This record gives sequence, structure tokens and C-alpha cells, in this order.
Amino acid sequence: MTEPRPVSPAASDAAISIKGVSRRFGDAVAVQYVDLDLARGEFFALLGPSGCGKTTTLRMVGGFELPSTGAIYLEGKDVTTLPPYKRDVNTVFQSYALFPHLTVMENTAFGLRRKGVGKAEAAARAGEYLELVGLAGFDKRRPSQLSGGQQQRVALARALVNHPKVLLLDEPMGALDAKIRKTMQHELKRIQREVGITFLYVTHDQAEAMSMADRLAVMNSGLIEDMGAPQRVYDRPATQFVAEFLGTCNVLPIIVDGAGARLPDGNPLVIDGVAAPTEPGWKVGIRPEKLELTPANRAASGANRTTATVTEVTYLGASTEARLATPWGGELQAYRQNTAETVIRPGDQVEVSWHAAQAFLLPPTPTAIATDEEVAA
Ligand code: ATP
Repeated sequence: MTEPRPVSPAASDAAISIKGVSRRFGDAVAVQYVDLDLARGEFFALLGPSGCGKTTTLRMVGGFELPSTGAIYLEGKDVTTLPPYKRDVNTVFQSYALFPHLTVMENTAFGLRRKGVGKAEAAARAGEYLELVGLAGFDKRRPSQLSGGQQQRVALARALVNHPKVLLLDEPMGALDAKIRKTMQHELKRIQREVGITFLYVTHDQAEAMSMADRLAVMNSGLIEDMGAPQRVYDRPATQFVAEFLGTCNVLPIIVDGAGARLPDGNPLVIDGVAAPTEPGWKVGIRPEKLELTPANRAASGANRTTATVTEVTYLGASTEARLATPWGGELQAYRQNTAETVIRPGDQVEVSWHAAQAFLLPPTPTAIATDEEVAA
């Protein structure tokens, strides 16, 4: 890691401003120069693989970890060195951390009671939040008498009842099965909209982040590689890592020579709105669902074309996944909705095409993070 960069001031209207924050553990750098502003009322997801530094970032916002460099502001106030209980922030952990000997109502009202709120008022307020999370009528149960999803709702109600400025959520659905997770995702989004509290949500699950977040950041080895609205980051990822982490992506090398940029088979590469690369090392990314497959003897509609041989076809119900061998020895993946009238089979020769607007360039090495504005420019 190089010398610390100067720390810029907090964005005045941001709920959370993380400015030039790094965190080392001994020689290891867990988080590098994270710069992040969360708007008030925003649902923001911090996404990345295990060990990328997302939990450490969240823990620094919560006050459980000190940054090595940089500063953290909550609504413009520098909280970098404040302990957790002096920050207007609550955290929902994956483990829920409910008190086993207390009832649902007592767990939910616990924070209010500690702040000196009277018993009747605390119960009334806790009751409102239990209703909000769909647990009206569960007041007298203890955590051991609840399912994982219900315990998660109690943890959420307990965190929200204090009405913090910011709620931090650290893989809160990690212990839930796939179906309950899906239901909880919808619920959580609804609850967040209703209460209007800023959510910073840490997850390694890209579908979860994409379905809930207003914006997301993708971290890799302690660095944010891309940040923006889920659709923008999916459709125009800034780096190869982001393209491949957020769903599936075909990544093709580009030939750059006097004739311009070309696909590995020599066909021209056409991408809308961006200049063709003039240096080697660039790649082009194209999502499997954007590839059009036509029989080799029929005209394809996309401006980018190559031929390929179908090697494998997997029927997935709503769609079919095809694997294709390319003339340059690479493999492509294509998804087709099962509405197409033509059937493809292993061994078929096909024309693979895609429209200029649907591919994106990927730089040789990740640079500083891109913003939506820069990508749109
Ligand atoms: P996961 O999804 O597995 O929780 P993460 O993206 O949240 O991963 P962090 O927990 O932030 O990752 O960890 C980032 C890096 O910092 C990892 O390499 C981890 O081993 C290291 N790390 C985290 N906490 C400590 C610590 N207290 N001491 C030493 N190293 C740590």
C-alpha cells in the first residue's frame, strides 16, 4: 500500500461518508482507500467474495473496528474514533444475537428500556415494529420457539425500533434457506421503504444485492472496483472481475492492429458509444442472454458475428443454456428463453451474433472505480 491519500471532507447531505478509509491487519491490507457516500434513505449493498473486505468496512462504520487511515462521517459528523454506542447506528448480525432468556417483546424493547423509555411506551413501540416485520402475536415466545426467518425478523425489529440514522446488515440472511431468503428480500425492501432508514447491507450473494439495493459496490481484494445502480453495473461493468462476479459473462480477447479492433476470429468488433481500444490487453464482455444463435445458413441480426459449434445443451425449464466451441478454441455460453421456434442440438453449426449496444469493453487492469456518470458519458 502506498502513502495515505489526503482525506476529503464528508458529503454534507450524505447519511454515511467513508473517506479514503483503509484497514490493515499486520501486513495484510483488508480494505484499501474506500471512498463511499450513501444518500439518506438509500439501500446500499456492499458485495464481494469471501475475504474482500466488506465486513471490515461495515464494522468500521459501526465502530467495531478502527480505520488505519481515512475518516467516517455520519450525517456530516466525524465518528471515526467513536465507540459503537455513541453512534446513531444499529447492526443486524448474521447470528441475530437475540437474548435466549427474553421473550420476543422483551428482546425488541430491550434497547428502548435501556435508554430509559417507560415499560408501556417501550411495549407499544416494540409492538409497532413487530407488526411491521410480520410478527404480531409472537410477543410471548422465546427465540428457541421461532424459526430462523422469524428470529431474523425479531433482530430486525429490535434494530429498527431505536430508529437509528443508519442500519448496518451483515449477511443477515446467511442462515436462511433459499425460499425464505427470497421472501425476506421482498420484505426487507418493503420495510426499508416504509421506515426510510439508510441501509448498508453486506452480502456475497449477487442476486440478493441486485434485487434489493438502490446502488451497490463490488469489492475485490479490499478495493471497490465498481459502484452504481445494479442495472448499470450489470450491463456495463467496469472490470472483468465485476463482470464475472455479477452473473455470468463471456469474456473475449480483442485483437488490436492497424485494421482496428477485431474479434479473435478476425471479424470486426463493433461497440456503441466507445472508441475501439488501440492498445493490447483489452477484452470484450457479453452476457449469455444477449447472444443470438441462428442456424449457420440464416442471416444473423447483430453487428458482431462469429461462427461456433454447439457442444452442450442444458434444458433449464424457462430457458436453455448452450455451450459453444469457437474457431479460436474458446468457449461461449448462451441462454435462450424457451420460446424460440428453432431447437439447437449438440453438433449444430450456428452463427453467434450480438448487437453493438450489448457488449462492453473491459480494461487490461482495473483502474480507479467508475461512477454511473462516467460510464454513461
Ligand atoms: P466474508 O464474506 O468471508 O466475511 P469479507 O469480505 O467480509 O469476507 P472481511 O471479514 O472484511 O472479509 O476480511 C477481509 C480480510 O481481512 C480477510 O483476508 C480477513 O482474513 C482479514 N481480517 C479480517 N479481520 C481480521 C482480524 N481481526 N485480524 C486479521 N485479519 C483479519
